[in-house]
Amino acid sequence: MIDENGQLDLFGQMDLFGAPAPDIAPAPPIRKSKCSANGLVHFKYNSRLKRSIRCKANFLFGHPEVLLPSYMEAPEFADARELAAEWAEHAIRRKTQKNKAIIKDLVTRFWEAVDQVLVDKGKAPLESTGRLPPINPRGRYFNLNQVLEAINHTYFDEQLKCRITWSNRVGGLSFHSLRKDPITGEEFHLISISRGYDAANCPLYAVAGVVYHECLHIVIPVEEKNGRRVVHGRIFRQRERQYIYYDEWIRWHKEVLPKNIRAMHRHKDL
Ligand SMILES: [Zn+2]
Repeated sequence: MIDENGQLDLFGQMDLFGAPAPDIAPAPPIRKSKCSANGLVHFKYNSRLKRSIRCKANFLFGHPEVLLPSYMEAPEFADARELAAEWAEHAIRRKTQKNKAIIKDLVTRFWEAVDQVLVDKGKAPLESTGRLPPINPRGRYFNLNQVLEAINHTYFDEQLKCRITWSNRVGGLSFHSLRKDPITGEEFHLISISRGYDAANCPLYAVAGVVYHECLHIVIPVEEKNGRRVVHGRIFRQRERQYIYYDEWIRWHKEVLPKNIRAMHRHKDL
């Protein structure tokens, strides 16, 4: 899970492990929910939409209007809305090969940004709420069950009870969520790891690092501080640094993972 200090970078990904923000943050710019930051694209909301957005061209050469699900009116979706506005500006233009690629990329980044907000709020990403997602721990390069077993043995005295899967979405997110088995009714923790880690260029210490990070979310509860949810508090960061390859993993996470995720969007083999 990613804390609210995370920054959106060029790839629409959050900076998972960026330095904590200073206590006195500059006042955020006021973002309105009715139109994009440049004032050109108008937003409308519809409570029947859940996981779809629409755009409508206005007049002959006018800027588009975007129809969004109602929950996206909340301020934390401001960055996602900007991506939707950008998407709409391209979607109403001629569908050249280049424009089609841009549209596709913006749609992916938009839903990633939306999922990121939901994960930060402690909710599972939209696609996987409700029913149980398929659990696929065996990737092309790593069997996550084996990685989890090693981490559980080394850092948690084999006391950790959870399941693990490669994420079912093409995206940059690794996260943890609480699920319920539809048959037994039993609750369990599920760790989902970004497919960007299932790559030939990913060392074992990196995938083990992200598994360790997500395991910590199971044992270290979210703190409430001045009404804010702190998911990566001081205790979390201390425990995180106990991972023996912490520095190497962070470097890989920051330098290589974003490239892998971009390649995934272009449907390249990792
Ligand atoms: Zn986290």
